Amino acid sequence: MNKNDTRKVDGSRKVGRRALLRDSAVVGTAAIGAAPLFLPLLTGCSKEEKELQCTDVSSLSGADRDLRQTLKYVDKSPESDKNCENCNFFKPAGKDKCGSCTLVKGPIHPMGHCTSWAAKQG
Ligand code: SF4
Repeated sequence: MNKNDTRKVDGSRKVGRRALLRDSAVVGTAAIGAAPLFLPLLTGCSKEEKELQCTDVSSLSGADRDLRQTLKYVDKSPESDKNCENCNFFKPAGKDKCGSCTLVKGPIHPMGHCTSWAAKQG
């Protein structure tokens, strides 16, 4: 019997130091590799969760809602170079917040758009 043999005489297996270190390294590597998958669960945040929505028009009058619809306001601009953030009528409210507009009432998404878009002056 050599000194690396990990079998006991009764057939049961004894875990040697090398085997224990090797197995620990495999488990540790797998845990590190899987960590990014579970990080959003642990931190309680994800990209989807933080997506800004500026669609609550419950406080608007019927006329203001109609104007919003008539001007085809949307939270996501169909034109990549024209959005509320670079529109002359947009009033920002800060990072990750809905802004406002001097023409369209209600919450306005910085990446939104309507048919009255006009390039920001100055
Ligand atoms: S006018 Fe239209 S495009 Fe410009 S900020 Fe207001 S809603 Fe956005």
